Amino acid sequence: MSESNRLRIAIQKSGRLSKESMKLLRSCGVKFNINEQRLIAHSDNLPIDLLRVRDDDIPGLVMDGVVDLGIIGENVLEEEQIERERLDKPASCIKLRELDFGACRLSLAVPNEFNYEDASSLEGLRIATSYPNLLRRYMQRKGITYNDCMLKGSVEVAPRAGLADGICDLVSTGATLEANGLYETEVIYRSNACIIQSSEVQLPAKQALIEKILSRINGVVRAKE
Ligand code: ATP
Ligand code: ZN
Repeated sequence: MSESNRLRIAIQKSGRLSKESMKLLRSCGVKFNINEQRLIAHSDNLPIDLLRVRDDDIPGLVMDGVVDLGIIGENVLEEEQIERERLDKPASCIKLRELDFGACRLSLAVPNEFNYEDASSLEGLRIATSYPNLLRRYMQRKGITYNDCMLKGSVEVAPRAGLADGICDLVSTGATLEANGLYETEVIYRSNACIIQSSEVQLPAKQALIEKILSRINGVVRAKE
């Protein structure tokens, strides 16, 4: 699909992964300036274009071969992969490596007054989440049935609003849960940011550039360890 000679890399436009994604590329020697109004930023020194989009769009853009590389949370990648497999849409890509930022966990949490023993305490109850596929996979493995409450945002307020009995949401410090009268009961998925590549065969020059960038990323990440 992406037949341009320039390498296309999708990164999150604004959010928790944006700064670190740009910092990583810059520390690999990719020079660029961001114009907040523009979707695309052209590198000044390498044949690379950066596409700045919503993080949720990144896995699909890579799996459809619209862009060559993407920097994304493993949580969003895996959620999209399960969804696409279910819909029989292209769902493959190559995970080049895990990165050292964007760490978080997808956890089950319930109101403070909820008497929780294990995940089976949620049997037959309603769980609010933005990650229905990761939640379903976890609960299916445990043989627990539950009801979905799909929310793209404000998941943590769902129990207090009477929309759900518990939630399955991303946690990093737990402060948001606490502020909403919830406590974390189990981690269902641990995530970091990662860099992915389209499974389509690349032009040799582009593939060589990908390898050069990857080896620089390896160097940058290792230097920090
Ligand atoms: P967008 O507008 O691009 O859709 P978003 O609101 O969906 O952004 P962010 O909150 O910026 O997404 O989170 C992006 C990613 O950052 C998450 O999918 C996850 O991989 C990672 N992350 C790290 N820590 C956290 C956290 N505490 N809460 C949420 N996401 C986190
Ligand atoms: Zn998002």
